[in-house]
Amino acid sequence: MSQPGGRAASAPLMGREIEPTIFELSSPGRSAYQLRTTGVEALDLTSVVPGEYVREEPVRLPEVSERDLVGHVTRLSHRQFSVDLGFYPLGSCTMKYNPKIADWVTGLEGLNSVHPGVPSELCQGWLELMVDLEERLCAVTGMAAATLQPAAGAAGELTGLLLMRAYHESRHDQRRRVLIPDSAHGTNPASVTLGGYEVTTIPSGPDGLVDVAALKAALGDDVAGIMLTNPNTAGLFEENIVEIAEAVHGVGGLLYYDGANLNAILGVVRPGDMGFDIVHMNLHKTFATPHGGGGPGAGPVAVAEHLAPFLPGPQPAREGDHFVWRSPEHSIGRVHGWHGNALVLARALAYIEVHGGDGLRRVAERAVLNARYLQARLADTLPAAYEGPCMHECVLTAKGLKDETGVRGLDVAKALLEHGFHAPTVYFPLIVEEALMFEPTETESRETIDALVDALRSIAEQSVRDPDGVRAAPRSTPVRRLDEARAARQLVATEDAAHR
Ligand SMILES: *Cc1c(COP(=O)(O)O)cnc(C)c1O
Repeated sequence: MSQPGGRAASAPLMGREIEPTIFELSSPGRSAYQLRTTGVEALDLTSVVPGEYVREEPVRLPEVSERDLVGHVTRLSHRQFSVDLGFYPLGSCTMKYNPKIADWVTGLEGLNSVHPGVPSELCQGWLELMVDLEERLCAVTGMAAATLQPAAGAAGELTGLLLMRAYHESRHDQRRRVLIPDSAHGTNPASVTLGGYEVTTIPSGPDGLVDVAALKAALGDDVAGIMLTNPNTAGLFEENIVEIAEAVHGVGGLLYYDGANLNAILGVVRPGDMGFDIVHMNLHKTFATPHGGGGPGAGPVAVAEHLAPFLPGPQPAREGDHFVWRSPEHSIGRVHGWHGNALVLARALAYIEVHGGDGLRRVAERAVLNARYLQARLADTLPAAYEGPCMHECVLTAKGLKDETGVRGLDVAKALLEHGFHAPTVYFPLIVEEALMFEPTETESRETIDALVDALRSIAEQSVRDPDGVRAAPRSTPVRRLDEARAARQLVATEDAAHR
């Protein structure tokens, strides 16, 4: 079966097996536009651009007709997994279906046609939108103030750590270490290192929760803080969070909340009430921006009162009945400029306004219900890595299957592609052997989840009968098994194509 994203069977590849690159389609002199003759004299480029900046030779760009260009990108888009057609249960990332009303908002001319350098008097609406969003995000997280600057979750983490630094330094308090549980997302230790701190890893117990005794043993007056997500990356709620918060605060440390899992607790419980001081949110995960494939995101950071003076600036602020840019008193400075991702903020505000507080709560409740349903239905096929009900995502293990048949978690994920589903997250969290992490999100129906269960059961059955067949998957996708490290190690891909 092909993926529901659907390859266009009749796509005119003109006899070719694979889609050529745009450079291979290029033919000198072709153009995607044709302009009328105006009689206006051509401008000499050097009259507007200093000669030293003018290229000696025109840049090598592909020359194609508009029709060929549109055909090319449309064919490529049909070879992708479609978020609108397919189920994308990739855990930790909240790849949920996003309502089209958020697209409608980004089409509003008053929002999308504003130049980023426009003076504040001419973009009062945008400033108001940003202030409104900051207030909503503070209400959702239980925090006092927020910045919308960071452009992704990882950028929010670094911003949060710089805030932690600024706070401790303002108190002439030298601290060195940040604690991170061993189940954490890889961006957490990377951000700690970039922020100039050392990582101390805290083990998880057999129940998948932070080992509180180990945590307490690692505390000291050189600890700047701890980074946690709750529910954690095993999909479990850290029940001892209040005790953890008291212990970390007890040695003068701060608590950082990785908000990637916020979808699980919206409107139910707030990081601020659990004792966190700093929170990042991934608007592209929780609040209506489709992601994956490198599109824009946003990683706002919200903080408790005592950290507000350090927030990045300039910040949009309400002043009487109008809006201005202002920098907090001890601002760490700018972490992002030019608002390239501003429409992500508009999408998030629209999503929050449409749902309202009770609607957001239903989002979280249904996300958790769906994940628990999936975990329960798969119990005899791919058991959960930890006992007890999960929150918004479930971490299952293919260890039993591997021991019995030799088929690994990765093979199961690849085989799922042939059944028309996107693969789950594999081998994360690192502490679970043969981990498969599914996050169905609130947007999927029971029928869709049942279909996923059927597909996984049939893969498990095939693993017993025909393990080689499972390991040969995927066969129906545009590409089969890839060298997963090569793209990261050999960054030059287009150069080669351009000179072919
Ligand atoms: C996605 C994710 C991040 C990083 O967020 P980006 O927006 O991708 O930079 C951090 N922590 C967890 C748990 C995540 O799932």
